[in-house]
Order: sequence, then C-alpha cells, then structure tokens
Amino acid sequence: MTAQIIDGKAIAADLRARVAGEVERVKREHGLQPGLAVVLIGNDPASEVYVRTKQKQTVDAGMASFEHKLPADTSEADILALIARLNRDEAVHGILVQLPLPKGLDPNTIVNAIDPAKDVDGLHPFNAGRLATGLSALVPCTPLGSIILAKTVHASLEGMNALIIGRSNLVGRPLVQLLLNENATVTIAHSRTRDLPALCRQADLVFAAVGRAEMVKGDWLKPGATVIDVGINRITGSDGKGRLVGDVAYDEALKVAGAITPVPGGVGQMTVACLLVNTLRAACAIKGLPAPAV
Ligand code: NDP
Repeated sequence: MTAQIIDGKAIAADLRARVAGEVERVKREHGLQPGLAVVLIGNDPASEVYVRTKQKQTVDAGMASFEHKLPADTSEADILALIARLNRDEAVHGILVQLPLPKGLDPNTIVNAIDPAKDVDGLHPFNAGRLATGLSALVPCTPLGSIILAKTVHASLEGMNALIIGRSNLVGRPLVQLLLNENATVTIAHSRTRDLPALCRQADLVFAAVGRAEMVKGDWLKPGATVIDVGINRITGSDGKGRLVGDVAYDEALKVAGAITPVPGGVGQMTVACLLVNTLRAACAIKGLPAPAV
C-alpha cells in the first residue's frame, strides 16, 4: 500500500483563488480592499523569505500589502508605537509581526499590543481565549491549514482519534481546539510524554509539530492513518546538500499511512493561504460585513 499524497500546493492554490474571488467581490460591492501589514524586525534569512512570499501572495489575491522592515536593534517602544499606528490605520485590517523576534524583544509584549480584530496570526490571548471557549476567533494559520488538509481526506473528523505531537501556542494548542470543534477525540503529546510510539499507533489522525527531523517513524503509525506533517527542518543530505524535511520519516510513513502531507508542498503552503483567509475575514468583520464564503 502506498499512501495518498495530500497535495498542499494545489489545495492552497485553490484556496487562494477563492480568496481572490471574494476580495474582488467585497471591492466591487462594498468598496473594501483588505490590507495586510507585515512587520519584520531584523534580518533572519528564513523570515525574509517567508515575508516576501506573504507579500507576493497578498498582492496576487488583490489585497493591499504594507511592509515595515525595522533594524534588529529597534527599541520595544518604537515597535509598540508602530503597532499603535497600524491599529488605527483604516487601510490595515491585518497586522502580522514576523516571529521569531531578535533577542531581547518579548514576543508576548509585542503580540499583545496588536488590536485583536487585526490579529491575523491568531496569537493574541483574546483570540486564543475565544477559540478555547468555542467562540468565533481569528485562528493561527498553520493549525487552520492543517485541519483543511485533513478534511480533504475525511469530510468529517467526528469520533476519530487524533494525536497532536507538540503543544506550542502557535500550532499544538490551537489544533486541540479546532479538532474538538470537529468532534474528534484529541490527545496532545509533548517532550514529557511516555511511550509516544504506542500512543501514535492508536491514532487515526497524526499531527506532528515538533521541529525534529523525521522523528515519527513508519512503524509508529496505525496502518491507514492520515498524517499531517507540520515540521519544517533543514538537514544536510548524504550528497552534502541542504534540504527540507518534516517531523515524519516520509519514505517509511508512505508505506503505512493512508494519506500524508509532503514537506515541502504540504502544510507550509496552507499557512500563507490561511493568512489571506484571515485578512479577508478580519476586513469583513471590521467593516461590519457578513463573513466571506471561504
Ligand atoms: P516549538 O518548538 O514551539 O514546540 C515544539 C513542541 O514539540 C513542544 O511542545 C515540545 O514539547 C515538543 N517536543 C519536542 N521534542 C519532543 C519529543 N522528543 N517528543 C515529543 N514532543 C516533543 O515548535 P512550533 O510548534 O513552533 O513548531 C513545530 C514545527 O513546526 C517546527 O518544525 C516548525 O518549523 C514547524 N512550523 C511549520 C509551520 C508551517 O507553516 N508549516 C509554521 C510553524 C511551525 P515541550 O512543550 O514539552 O517542550
């Protein structure tokens, strides 16, 4: 048996096209152009690549993109002043501060300064709290994209045993809430979990968000399981060249799983597409319009 490969690239392209259609409609019907402001502090090379991709896809979807690039030694007060300005700016409906921040800056202080209505990364405690209590919220993009991918395999996740490996605020914790909303039975594992392979073997759905290259082995998986690999790890291959791999040993998993996301070409593609979804949703909510059909 070879697993179905979940084509994140195609699914994300389809989602972006639907966002672009809705952007076109709200512009035509309501004179609203959603706008996303991206704040990049310092010059982390990976962050620069992510930010460029986000800007390009924002513009391609017909939205406005505002870039704010600040040196690594920018003071917290100056960053907070910029965020306050963006909070007031009526052309800006989404604010994203690219993480990780340079050393010395506290991400909580910065994220908590963003107006929750414009918090398109879904990291503000207001949105995290709303999600945790079952209310509508802006939800972090990576978990949102991961659920969309799982639902391309299973129209309903109801009653499925879902295992999430990793408990970060960015991925693992919001995934718990999203999976509960889907009526899955959820287990969350982390670095102190005992006998992770045994736990994994009971799961119909595995979400790996650890940050350890190829940690989840093929023989950890229940045959036929759906595997969503969130991990992005840069390793040096046997040819001496750098390449990206996930948290799951892909070649092994392919022989056991029912469906699996590749790395790259899986969850990463969905993260940016979901950022566009969140910006469109935020713009409609701020303008008092019904939620868009994406
Ligand atoms: P964090 O480092 O914040 O969290 C990692 C989690 O993995 C922690 O909860 C940690 O447990 C757990 N963990 C570490 N080692 C083990 C282990 N041996 N067994 C079980 N659990 C373990 O990472 P993020 O959530 O931010 O990111 C996870 C991965 O996802 C990374 O590879 C990152 O690059 C990728 N990522 C991909 C995105 C995308 O767009 N595809 C977006 C965001 C992240 P504990 O809490 O006990 O320390």
